[in-house]
Amino acid sequence: MADPRALYQAVILDHNKHPRNFHAVQPHSHSADGHNPLCGDQLHLEMRVDGDGQIEAIGFTGDGCAISMASTSIMTEALEGQTIESALALFEAFHAAITDQSVEPDPRLGQLAALAGVRDYPMRVKCASLPWHTLKAALEHE
Ligand code: ZN
Repeated sequence: MADPRALYQAVILDHNKHPRNFHAVQPHSHSADGHNPLCGDQLHLEMRVDGDGQIEAIGFTGDGCAISMASTSIMTEALEGQTIESALALFEAFHAAITDQSVEPDPRLGQLAALAGVRDYPMRVKCASLPWHTLKAALEHE
């Protein structure tokens, strides 16, 4: 069986090289800017949420390190079509996976589990969680 670390590395490199949903969303109902001053990661997140609270479209622009770009790209793929409620539940599971050594990544995470390796690098946790904090900010300020 392939080394999961090598597999995760490949997922991150691929998303960094070819970020998914790397575009503005017009029209959008929510947006927010995220900034990680420790690393210099900057991102702008836009999304359109329909009347039933479902994320119809989500995209981002900005610039940052490989971890932040890959994490944002994977997040947008994971969240498209989800309800806000399930997006926030996924954030909880993701946050646990990247900060808590004792938990096994939740199977619902899918490709998001590729970021779990950052928990050994506290500086990188901020890069990986930036898009999620930006998502929360976007949902809180319509
Ligand atoms: Zn970074």
